[in-house]
Formats: sequence, structure tokens, C-alpha cells
Amino acid sequence: MNHTDKKHILLITTGGTIASVPGGEGLEPRRSDVMERELNQLRTYYDITVQDLMCLDSSNIQPEEWVIIARAVFDARGCYDGIVISHGTDTMAYTSSMVTFMLENIDLPVVFTGSQLPLADFLSDAPNNLRAAFAMAAAGAPGVFLAFDRKIMRGCRAVKVRASGFNAFESINSQYVGIVTALGLNLNRDMLPAPKGPAALRTKASNRVFLLRLTPGLDSAIFDTLVDMGYRGIVLEAFGLGGMNFLHDVPGHGIRGAVENGVSVVVCSQCLYDSSNLNVYQVGKKLLDMGVIQGGDMTTEAAMTKLMWALGQDYTQDEIRSLFATSLAGEITL
Ligand code: ASP
Repeated sequence: MNHTDKKHILLITTGGTIASVPGGEGLEPRRSDVMERELNQLRTYYDITVQDLMCLDSSNIQPEEWVIIARAVFDARGCYDGIVISHGTDTMAYTSSMVTFMLENIDLPVVFTGSQLPLADFLSDAPNNLRAAFAMAAAGAPGVFLAFDRKIMRGCRAVKVRASGFNAFESINSQYVGIVTALGLNLNRDMLPAPKGPAALRTKASNRVFLLRLTPGLDSAIFDTLVDMGYRGIVLEAFGLGGMNFLHDVPGHGIRGAVENGVSVVVCSQCLYDSSNLNVYQVGKKLLDMGVIQGGDMTTEAAMTKLMWALGQDYTQDEIRSLFATSLAGEITL
């Protein structure tokens, strides 16, 4: 590869373990200088520009930071072949999902990555993860992706499934977009999102969405409390295919009351794999009768961020219902 063939890749750093060093109270994220040695090696293959956007443990990445990240990508997109975003792994699936919705029809590859061990650690997984992310960013396929442990997945399908294992992320209910093999980066062309129009930045999102995991014995008065607290959306992780307990109903308006008060209630399964389907069991049908929205096979991260985003766009309850029956970027199987 000679110099003129090099793809121009922007690396946006946000912190996380990948850029951390031991501090007085544990690992602390630093700016990109701690990544310089690895970046110099990558410069053999890519023309790299680095933008230190923020320096946070991803536990501190909040909706405000999602907006900053999405805007940085949108502003830079005309000047690069692809963008890599280094990010802490703990909330990376939330960010990659939300950024997918905020960057509608994004027209270049945007690839999130991070690591379980700091780049500076001799045995770190970070070099492999970064290299896979750069290869994907240079591959010319537009969309928001997450690269980890030699696998590339859609940003809106990724979930962190291991707290410390190097194979920390899985692509849930969706094939990998690519894998790194002895033959290089192998893309699964069927899994690449096809932009449906011009790229747009739509960053407004509502924080008034609550995630509720159903447990046996849950007091359904919680729904009244959430309405009183001003929540406008609820993602309910129900049992199995989408069941809810009705046996010992307590007084209160429950889910029906929340829906009648204008709250959009999206029901997903608390099982990680396969799709919820409220049409199978009586306990699911009862939920549908109350006016809930089916979350299908979406990840909790994607359902939460899609609902936050939809409420931010000021869609009505009916519009949100049809939005969840639409795949915006491959986040749901219809
Ligand atoms: N606590 C770290 C973070 O999410 C973990 C990691 O990056 O792996 O920022």
C-alpha cells in the first residue's frame, strides 16, 4: 500500500478502559497520548487524524454526551473515509444504538470500539479491537457499527454480555456484519444497512423513559408512580415471549392507565435471544389489549434509545407505535 492509497480515518476518543491508566482510585481514562504507540503502527496503513472529544469512563456518558458524539461525527463526515470512536465498553451499546438513530442515513462507516484491558497493558485486547475497527472504517460500508474481538456488528444490535471476557459483545438476533479471519475482514454484505435517503442529524431525545424488568410479585402501582413522575415512555422487559403476571392484581390503573395517560409502553423479552411475541399466550394478549407496543427482537439498549429518540422528535403515541413497526437501521426484524 503506498501513501496515496491510504484511507483517511478520523479517530474520535471519548475515554474508557482502552485509554486508561492506573490512578489513585483505580483505572482513569486519559487523552489519546496513551494510545500514540499503537496509532503510530496503524499510521503505516491509514492516514489518521485524532480528535480527543471527551475523556470519560463510559459510566459517565449520558444523553448529553450522545449528542456531542453524534454531532462530532456529522460535522466531520465530509472530510474522512471513515470514523472510529473509542469508547468505554460498559455503556458502548447504548451509545452505538442511540448514535444510530441520531445519525439518520449516515453516509460513511462509523465504528465504535473499546477494550477490556488498557491499550498500555502488554496483554491488552485493544490492538486487535482497534485494528478491526480501522479496517471496518476503511471498508467503505456506511452505517454505525461496533467492532470487538474480531467481530463487527450493527451498533443497534450490540450488547455487552461479559464483564471481563475479551469476547464481551454479542450481536443479538442479527448476524455479524463482518468477522476477521485468516483471509482478512470478511463482510457479510446482506447485513450492511442501506441508507434510504440523505444523511441527517436529529439529536433531540427525551430522558423520560424508564426501563422496568418484570419480576414475580411486582406491584403494578409502579406504573401509576411512573406516570406521576412524568415518565413518557416505559420499556418493559416481560417474561419469555412477553408475558406479564395478572393473577393477584393490586388496585391502581397499571399499564392501561399509563397508556391512557399518553405513555408509550414498549414490551421486550427479558430473554437475550429470539423475539418476543405477545400474540402467543393469553398473558401476552392481555398486554396487547392494554395498548402496549411490541418490541419484537430488539435489544433493551435499542428499545430504550429508540423510544428516547422518538419522544425527543415529538412523535405522537400512534406515530411511535408505527415507528416501532418500522426498521430504521436494522434494529428490529419485521
Ligand atoms: N468502566 C470502563 C468504561 O466503560 C470499562 C471499559 O471501558 O471496558 O469506561
